[in-house]
Formats: sequence, structure tokens, C-alpha cells
Amino acid sequence: MLLIEADGKALFTAVGIPVPAGVVVTDVVPALPNDGPFVVKAQVPVGGRGKAGGVVLCNTRPEAEAAVAGMLGSRLKGHAIESCLVEAAVAGAERYLAIMVDPASYGLRVMFSAAGGVAIEQSDSVEARLCAPHPGAVTEALNDLIANEPEAWRAQVAAIGKALASLLLEKELALAEINPLFVAESGCVAGDAKVVVDLNAMYRQPVLSAMIAARPTVYADACRKLTEGFDYVELDPEGEIGLVTTGAGLSMMLIDELTARGAKPLNFCDIRTGQMRGSPARLIRVLEWITARPSLKAVLVNIFAGITDLGEFAGLLAAAVTASPGLHVPVVARLVGRNAADAKRILAAALPDMLVTEDLAEALARIDAIVGAAP
Ligand code: GDP
Ligand code: MN
Repeated sequence: MLLIEADGKALFTAVGIPVPAGVVVTDVVPALPNDGPFVVKAQVPVGGRGKAGGVVLCNTRPEAEAAVAGMLGSRLKGHAIESCLVEAAVAGAERYLAIMVDPASYGLRVMFSAAGGVAIEQSDSVEARLCAPHPGAVTEALNDLIANEPEAWRAQVAAIGKALASLLLEKELALAEINPLFVAESGCVAGDAKVVVDLNAMYRQPVLSAMIAARPTVYADACRKLTEGFDYVELDPEGEIGLVTTGAGLSMMLIDELTARGAKPLNFCDIRTGQMRGSPARLIRVLEWITARPSLKAVLVNIFAGITDLGEFAGLLAAAVTASPGLHVPVVARLVGRNAADAKRILAAALPDMLVTEDLAEALARIDAIVGAAP
């Protein structure tokens, strides 16, 4: 999961990677680090902000204040801008430096380009080396990649690369990227921080877990995973079909199927029926998140039960639906597997309006009808 730049830069600072002087602003602009020029940067967990208008160069404090006022409360690439980073603008040539986990080789991929900046994706100048996941191996790969850099700052870039590698290894990151890395004889500075954390490692990464927990709205899905112990990802805040599903692969397949039919799924969900332990609490939570979206038109439950007893699940589903006063849309349940007949009987008695079927095509046809018929 991608961290916002301000959090990435806090991690950089902790390992000694220089970043520009700056302040995170959520309301009025406080005292600024100098007289300008500044860069005002939207803090949303998404890349490509520069091209989307989320990075604005400002010469004076009033300009910076206007840029902040324009950004706060607006949206960038689907994310609400809750805060801005106001930094002293840096001058210098732009480099690209990144280290990422390379699962195929059980190692790391170190990348460098002398043509850093927003056009890096179109650039064919990025050179890469695979190496073992050890600081020494990264240093060697990086030294090779930066061999043609001017002597004036080559040692500084090497030191930054070394610090970036230790950060990635200690914090078990999936990616640590600096683009642009401003290079100059007087000093090299990380102009941006793109840090992707591995949520599966959070239980042994207290600094990162605390960072995520501190921003429950920015990192909503990650916070949910850490506190609830299962995956729920909001795909489209304007989605129409809320999904209560289990199994990551099956859930993704259903999302693809719905999207292909022109429906708008709201969320991904792997509810893990085996962890519900006879309580409807987890189902109630999911229905709460789903029904919080006014665009919702239907809820589709899809459970393919191998070990799960569908009779027990049906009882919990009935209890959860009954205990969800905010649920005002039809629920369609496709339940297939162990004790499906019991499930059908239990739900028919408790919630006679609910379509319960073992047939996916029938469930999807009902969803189509509901979405099509809704105003
Ligand atoms: P991203 O588009 O989300 O990766 O955001 P960046 O932080 O990388 O900013 C986008 C672009 O804005 C960079 O590639 C730079 O060209 C430019 N930029 C960002 N900060 C500065 C700065 O301090 N000085 C200058 N001159 N340009 C900057
Ligand atoms: Mn960038």
C-alpha cells in the first residue's frame, strides 16, 4: 500500500535521506520555512500528482496560501485532499532512484535514471540491476548504475541509495522510490517519496502500523485490515453493488464479471467465514460500510462453502440483515456448497424477500434487474 509523500519523507528523514524543509498543512498555512519559492503538494496516496495538477510551484507566500486553499477539500485522482505539503522549492537536475522487491528472483531490483521527473514512465532511460536482498549487494548494484554520474555528487547519491536500501530492508517495504531526486554539488535532496508498504508485515512493523493508524481516513482500507483482520477494499465510492464475498480469487472474479456486465461494484471483500465464530458482528460491520454509500442499489452475497456450514452462515446473515437499520436495498444471496438447502430454508423463513440461489447466473440476472430498474 502506497503511503502519502509526507509519511514517506518522515521515513526518509529517519534514515538520513535529505528532504526539503516543509510543513504539512490541513487548514491555514502556518509560518513557512522561508520566503519562497515554494511547492504546494496534495497529500493523497497516489502517483502522478504532478501531471494531474496536485503539485504547484509558487513564488510567494500568498500564492502558496491560494494554492493550499484551492487544494484542501477538493479531490485529486479520486482521493479527497485532506492535507498539503508546503515545501521550499528545490532547484537542480532531476534523477530517478528506486529499489523494489523482485519476487521472481527472490531479490531486489535497483533502478536509476539520469532523466528523472514526471515523464519517467515514457522514458527508456531507466536502467535496472537485480541483486540479493542485502545492503552490500544493493550498494554494489547502485554504484554500477551511477558510474557515469558527475563526481560532484556521485558519493551523495550512493549514500542516499544505501540509506534507501536499509529503509526498505528494515521496514520490509515493497518499493522505495525517489523521483525526482534533485542532484547538485551543494547537496542532493529527495523531491518526492514513494513508499509502498507490505501490509502483511505490519504485525512486526510498529512504526509503520502507527503511521497508518494515525490517518484512518487516508488509509481507510489498510486500517480496516489491521483492526478487523480481513480484507475490505473500497473500489469505487460511487459503486452500486455492495459485495459480501469470501475467497480473494472468487471475489475478484465476481468483480470482473459484474464490471463486464456494466454493473458498478462498490467493494472487494474477503470476509473469511471461518473466522466469524458464530457471531454476525463481522457481517454487520461490512453491511455498515456498504450502506454508508448513497449510490448503493443492491447487496450481493456470494459464498462458495467448502468447510463453512451454510446453514450456520445463513443464520448469521439473517441476524446481520435484521440488525442493519441502514440497509434499504435488496439483498441477493448466492450460496453454494455444504448445507445449501438448510441455508435456503433458514433465509426463506427469516427474510422471505431475499433471493437465495445456488445459481450464479440467476443471482446476477436479479442484480441486473435491480440495477436496471432502479431510478
Ligand atoms: P508526483 O507527480 O506525484 O510523482 O509528484 P512529484 O513530487 O514527483 O512532483 C512532480 C514534479 O513536480 C516533479 O517531477 C518535479 O518536476 C516538480 N517538482 C516537485 N517538487 C519540486 C521542487 O521543489 N522544485 C522544482 N523545480 N520542481 C519540483
Ligand atoms: Mn514523483
